[in-house]
Amino acid sequence: MTNSTSSWETIIGLEIHIQLNTLTKAFCDDPARFSTEANTQTGYVSLAHPGTLPLPNGKQVESAVRLGLALDCTINTHSWFERKQYFYPDLPKGYQISQQASPVCLGGRMDLETSQGSKTIRIHHIHMEEDAGKSVHDTDPVWSRIDLNRAGVPLLEMVTEPDFRTAEEVTVFLTDLQRLVRYLDISDANMEEGSMRCDVNVSVRPSGSEEYRERCEVKNINSRRFARKAIEFESARQIALWEAGQAVVRQTMQFVPEEGVTVPIRQKESAHDYRYFPDPDLPPIKISQAQLDTWRNSIPTLPSEYLRLFTREKNLSLADAQVLAEDPEVARYYVELVQEEPALNKSAANWLIQTMLPWLREQNKKIGELPFGVKSLGFLLSQVRLGVLNLQQAQEVWIQITTSSQASLEDLVKEKLDAARQFDIPGVVEDLFSSFPVEADEFKKGKKKLLGFFLGEIKKKFPGIPVKEVQEALNRYLAG
Ligand code: ADP
Ligand code: MG
Repeated sequence: MTNSTSSWETIIGLEIHIQLNTLTKAFCDDPARFSTEANTQTGYVSLAHPGTLPLPNGKQVESAVRLGLALDCTINTHSWFERKQYFYPDLPKGYQISQQASPVCLGGRMDLETSQGSKTIRIHHIHMEEDAGKSVHDTDPVWSRIDLNRAGVPLLEMVTEPDFRTAEEVTVFLTDLQRLVRYLDISDANMEEGSMRCDVNVSVRPSGSEEYRERCEVKNINSRRFARKAIEFESARQIALWEAGQAVVRQTMQFVPEEGVTVPIRQKESAHDYRYFPDPDLPPIKISQAQLDTWRNSIPTLPSEYLRLFTREKNLSLADAQVLAEDPEVARYYVELVQEEPALNKSAANWLIQTMLPWLREQNKKIGELPFGVKSLGFLLSQVRLGVLNLQQAQEVWIQITTSSQASLEDLVKEKLDAARQFDIPGVVEDLFSSFPVEADEFKKGKKKLLGFFLGEIKKKFPGIPVKEVQEALNRYLAG
């Protein structure tokens, strides 16, 4: 095989479906929750009984607009729903309610940080639609079964411009989008469970050219890893075709995880003609300026803003910043923790990442369930910074406070300090000097470098001794 892939460029565009976490469905009040029991979340509207009428769900519009605002989209304050007609057994109405001519959000952008630097992905639009039901093929040897629980669950579909050039950009985008919708609390965006899924459009072109060649669309990818594999496979396949003098034909593909390959499911020739038209049963969606302002004000500090704050102002590494920005509660906690003492920026981040978050995970607890306030943790960490406690002692305090609900963190620190105060520091220093007479002599004659050595010895021998006071005692010898 020739190694000519470097002279080709891969072009990728995404279509992402986000399942919203509304209580009820998009056009009726059936519960939108997942249920393992088939056909239990299905009233007359979900079942598409003749004569039933849809009723729009304000929460879906709100979710779409808030996502659009967070991504700098232009909000279409006058839009409408359309019918997208096609036949499929899990689509009882024979059409899906969607938007085509007037998507609720237009344009917009998402800025990514990848290992190759910064990158902006332009968003084409975001529209509202409803999900279909599910055909289940593996519960009966003869029959396929239809479960309509999911029919009518509200979705947002986001379409990007073909701005991605690598699989890494795609996986970073999916991670960032997932984090964003969780911050906005509009979806749990769990790819494995299908509440966020994407179609990946891939084409290739010779590096340096500006043309767009024919593309293939890989449908319904449900993990970042599969997205990466599908892109890698598909671009290699297309490059091989072009290099063999053949042409890529427009196809809809499916990714087969077991084999890591894409296979065609339909050709362009058989593509659907959906015969879109405005749904006469639904009124147009008008969004007032006041409503827009209310929704704009409800947008919390976004993960991208936290990432910028943590890396630029708090001087954390991107990796650490990402861990802290993963969950809005953790990000807010960190900001509060270092608010009064910027000197703690780095050590507080370390403490959260190495001690507190693993502990919370292990205990299956939320930050709000910690047995002490953020100020108390700040107090503990500043004791370490001041050298009053060493890290090991601080860890001991942490273990005590997280295993017994009795004492307060401040009391535990004071206890540790009282215990430390019982050291006879001048005596300890004299003992040390007599164990290392040569070094002690040099030190007293002014060899400052030995200070670290003596401190180290003392810390080893007397864990918990107040380091600062020992240092002062040692310095007195140096001066005299
Ligand atoms: P259509 O209307 O034919 O479905 P769209 O313009 O809506 O096509 O694009 C659908 C998706 O395909 C978008 O995500 C877009 O970014 C992507 N796309 C368009 N052209 C290309 C291309 N040449 N290579 C890869 N992706 C593309
Ligand atoms: Mg399209």
